[in-house]
Order: sequence, then structure tokens, then C-alpha cells
Amino acid sequence: MKIILLGAPGVGKGTIAKELVIKYGIPQVSTGDLFRENIQKGTDLGKKAKAYMEKGELVPDDVTVSMLRERISRQDCRKGFILDGFPRTIPQAEALEELTAIDNVINLECPDEIIVMRLSNRRTCSKCGAIYNLVTIPPKEPGKCDKCGGKLVQREDDKEEAIRNRLEVYRKQTSPLVEYYDRKGLLVSIDAARNPDEILVEVVGELGESDAVEEIRSEPDQ
Ligand code: AMP
Repeated sequence: MKIILLGAPGVGKGTIAKELVIKYGIPQVSTGDLFRENIQKGTDLGKKAKAYMEKGELVPDDVTVSMLRERISRQDCRKGFILDGFPRTIPQAEALEELTAIDNVINLECPDEIIVMRLSNRRTCSKCGAIYNLVTIPPKEPGKCDKCGGKLVQREDDKEEAIRNRLEVYRKQTSPLVEYYDRKGLLVSIDAARNPDEILVEVVGELGESDAVEEIRSEPDQ
């Protein structure tokens, strides 16, 4: 099962992806997380990506596609994956098509005001990556992750100015993918201006309890 989660930043792709990982037993592949890991480790790739990310701009397609290609060629992706934050441009979608066939594209839709509210209140665990929202999903103890006790931080690009820029970049460069995948008959649009549990029920309703899932679970690891 190869799934793309499409939608503007802050629409809830990461939160939904983490639930789908548990439900379907396939990995989440987030290009944003991969870039952030590279920045943290100080790799050449991280150095290339950093300036673009801090401004809320897209990292160039060639860099992004080669990182994605390497990630999905790994063993844990052989039965499928959930793409979160990729593709973000038409050339990226075309490059992906050369690599593999996608089964479902879930388009999460949400008005800008809600997105800005969500992103400016988003906090991420610096240790395990769990996502919180100071208003809607607050941690039990301020500044501390419920799951692992890690410190909660605000991403540099979740600050007001970068958020506006990311939404603009989404509109110009990523939103044409909605029509692109619709024309291919792969797209399902879902109202994401609700709480994550409701969104998840609808997403799973669309993806189904496919046989492929049972296959993945019953197959011994090679
Ligand atoms: P995200 O965590 O998905 O919001 O991504 C954070 C930032 O990483 C984006 O604002 C871009 O700068 C960069 N990024 C993530 N995915 C991509 C992509 N598919 N293409 C280009 N840049 C990306």
C-alpha cells in the first residue's frame, strides 16, 4: 500500500501519518523529518537544505528526489509507505512516478485561518517527534512530552512569517498536484478542519482494511 498524504503545511499530515503507521504497519516517510535529521547531524544534505527550510521555501527538486529515492529503496518500504510532505511539485510527482506506482492520494483540506492557528501553536518533542498543539492537544505538563518526557520545541518555520510564506509556496507550487492526481483518478479529498480522530476514521474508511495489510502483517521478516 503506497499512500501520499497531500495538503498544506499544518493540515495534520504528520499526525494522521503516525496513526496510519500503527494501523497498516508501513513506515511514514516525511521529507521534512529527513531534512531535519540531516540538519541535526550536520550532513552535507542538511547544509544544503537548511537555508531553504528556515525561510519556508522548498528545497530544490534534485536534492529532495534523490533523498526520497534512497529512503524508499530501503527494506522497510518494500510493502509500502506513507509519504508525508512529498511530492510538493509537479516535477517531484513525475520523478516519483518513474520510481513506483502510488495506490492512494489523500488530500487533506483546511482553511488558512485554522492552519495558521494550528502551526503557531504546534510544539514538537525534540526527542521522539510527537506532535502537540497548545490549544487543542496540550501536553499534560507544559513544555514536556507525555510519551517520553522530552523537551517540546517550536520549529523555526512555525513562526508567523515563515508560516505565511509556506502557505504561499503551497498555493503556487504544491496545490497543482491536487488536479494532477485527480486526473489520474487517485485523489480523495477529506475535510481536515476537524479533530484528528474524526479525520482518521474517514481516511481509514477510504483506504479500507485492505488484504495487503493482512499480508504485510502475516509475512515473516526477511
Ligand atoms: P514539513 O515538515 O513537511 O512541513 O517540511 C518542512 C520544510 O522542509 C519545507 O518547508 C521545505 O523547506 C522542506 N521540504 C520538505 N519536503 C519537501 C519537498 N518534498 N520538497 C521540497 N522541500 C521540502
